[in-house]
Amino acid sequence: MPTYRAPRGTRDLLPETRAGFSRLEGIARSLALRYGYREMEIPLFEQAAVFERGIGEATDVVEKELFRIAPRTEDSESWALRPEATAGIVRAYVQHGMQALPPPVKLSVVGPMFRYDRPQAGRYRQFWQWSAEAIGDPGPAVDAEVVEMGLRFYKEAGLPDVQVLLNSIGDAACRPAYLETLKTYFSGHEAQLPALDRRRLDTNPLRLLDSKDPAMTALIASAPKMIDRLCEACAAHFTSVRVHLDALGVSYRLEPTLVRGLDYYARTAYEFYRQGAEGQQQALGGGGRYDGLVELLGGRPTPAIGFALGLDRVVLALAETGATVSHEASPLAVIVGADPADTVSRLRVASLLRSEGLSVRAELAPRKLGRQLETASKEQAHFAVIIGDELADGHVQLKDLKAGTQHLVPLADLARDLARAEKTHHHG
Ligand code: AMP
Repeated sequence: MPTYRAPRGTRDLLPETRAGFSRLEGIARSLALRYGYREMEIPLFEQAAVFERGIGEATDVVEKELFRIAPRTEDSESWALRPEATAGIVRAYVQHGMQALPPPVKLSVVGPMFRYDRPQAGRYRQFWQWSAEAIGDPGPAVDAEVVEMGLRFYKEAGLPDVQVLLNSIGDAACRPAYLETLKTYFSGHEAQLPALDRRRLDTNPLRLLDSKDPAMTALIASAPKMIDRLCEACAAHFTSVRVHLDALGVSYRLEPTLVRGLDYYARTAYEFYRQGAEGQQQALGGGGRYDGLVELLGGRPTPAIGFALGLDRVVLALAETGATVSHEASPLAVIVGADPADTVSRLRVASLLRSEGLSVRAELAPRKLGRQLETASKEQAHFAVIIGDELADGHVQLKDLKAGTQHLVPLADLARDLARAEKTHHHG
């Protein structure tokens, strides 16, 4: 048992896994570019109030999972690690006067989030998300665009069976009356409610629809649905979102009990699941419209929509499908030498090739040439550059380890020849 271990609920992403994450981050960045979202960074922590106000006190994320940090100062400020990016992005949007920019302002953040939750499969205390936010557009067209971008992410990642569950959760005009109806309904079954849900009846009745307690399943199924009680404007908005999705060829499933866990959402709400894995814990990502958030965090009233896609669960899902998540890169060439002690020449040739953009390894162990070559073959290098007496007049031996051939190459041509060989052999 090692003395020190990564904290519970966190993971070291070892190189092979890190490569899988990097690939997903690459897809996210490429999609952000294609859809016009500009990448930015926000701090890993904020004043806790940004989350308490922005996410809502009566949510799991704030109530139970907020990862509070206590710096060693007399400072009365209270801080927390970010549990999601939207609140921080909107805080930055307001702080930097982005309301003056032509709307929508489309922003993208990729990075780790923190929730002090009970760790389990697919649920970590540090996990990675791609968040995309389109701020300043009331939709409905942009709602369909952002859903389509999410689905495209999963497709390009290698999960073509992901589908979107869609709902509308109304707005300030129609939701209050619905919440009353919902409260009355659940109050009528109060004895059946688990303690947490009973408490939520007053603070956040919508959350009862999101309850993971099996005792709630039947009650939720027959609860009144927001979708049947949308005001005219919300109903028209939702119809139009669906028309746009149809036009894009995006199929979706209506899910009237889908609510987002965070308070600031309005109208369009959606989640991404793999087909057949629609369990509560299995969402790969989710998002929705949050028309009230900018104002809540001190800006002018501004409509907005976005999503947060979890990268960890995509990596897990890809592993389940048996897909090769990443290729471990082997070097194109290993630089070996007839004189085991001459590490200077090997390092200089390696440095020269690296400056030309090639991926090579210099053998720096003072071993016999035969052993050096053996190691190069074992690590699947395509070539060995062998440094011998010929170096005196500017030549090295280039050995193709796969083909078993070898010839003399002027040092001045080496980078060009290797680059050409890399292209024709599709190395790696
Ligand atoms: P949420 O902000 O809760 O809607 O989460 C959006 C997505 O982030 C989820 O669908 C998950 O893929 C991912 N996610 C949320 N919490 C965790 C967690 N504790 N561990 C791993 N992934 C998470």
